[in-house]
Amino acid sequence: QPLLEIENLSFSYRNHEALTNVHFTLYPGEFAALAGSNGAGKSTLAKILSGIQVPTSGSIKRKGKPSKKMRTDDIMKQTGFVFQNPEHQFICDTVEDEITYGWRIAGVAEEEWARDLEEMLDMFQLTDKRHENPFSLSQGQKRRLSVATMLSSNQELLLLDEPTFGQDEANTTALMNILKKLHLHGKTILMITHDMELIDQYADRVLLLDDGMIKYDVGTDTFFNNT
Ligand code: ADP
Ligand code: ADP
Repeated sequence: QPLLEIENLSFSYRNHEALTNVHFTLYPGEFAALAGSNGAGKSTLAKILSGIQVPTSGSIKRKGKPSKKMRTDDIMKQTGFVFQNPEHQFICDTVEDEITYGWRIAGVAEEEWARDLEEMLDMFQLTDKRHENPFSLSQGQKRRLSVATMLSSNQELLLLDEPTFGQDEANTTALMNILKKLHLHGKTILMITHDMELIDQYADRVLLLDDGMIKYDVGTDTFFNNT
């Protein structure tokens, strides 16, 4: 069953149509890239997919269920959105509280998550920052923390808005390797990026937005051989 089925989706700001008849289906386990130049509509689409914005027209089904019939909370529980500026979403005083928040509010006992926490701190290279305030982290560390929080809340779709933007090579590699690992473990990922090299290297599929419309929806191999 598809995770997302988008049909005829359009979105207009006041007098400007930012998305026109967008149509695609995303299956569990895919690693898709959402590309396109500035103003193409990528952020608008991401906000709609994450439930922050409601489309002007068209339909979204999430695991077969019409989005219109779902509560925003439930959409957000299914979709983890990593913002370009992830500090907007931090709510705890320490890195470890932030990571474990999802488990704690779900009432999972500490014995059950204690080991996962250590593994996540290690994987996201945040072990020595565990007692720091999330706001004090570097941008790269904030992005990694933001992805980590999505994992403890166990969201099925990870949606990232330019996760490597402004990052040095080491941070980019660290984050991309984490995403690759999650993908290998079956996580579904939709990543907005301008970076064609990253797409070529990591994604399976490219959705290219051009002036609010899907211009290409093809496998990465096809995309890089033919265009
Ligand atoms: P991208 O993320 O690909 O750069 P956006 O989704 O941010 O594209 O923007 C798509 C189009 O919608 C652009 O023309 C942009 O100027 C316009 N836009 C985005 N946000 C707003 C807004 N809040 N009000 C009016 N127009 C907007
Ligand atoms: P991004 O790089 O993620 O596309 P932008 O810098 O384009 O972000 O936009 C930042 C914020 O400004 C977003 O919330 C977007 O909706 C809003 N925005 C973008 N373009 C416009 C516009 N033409 N008018 C009003 N708001 C806009």
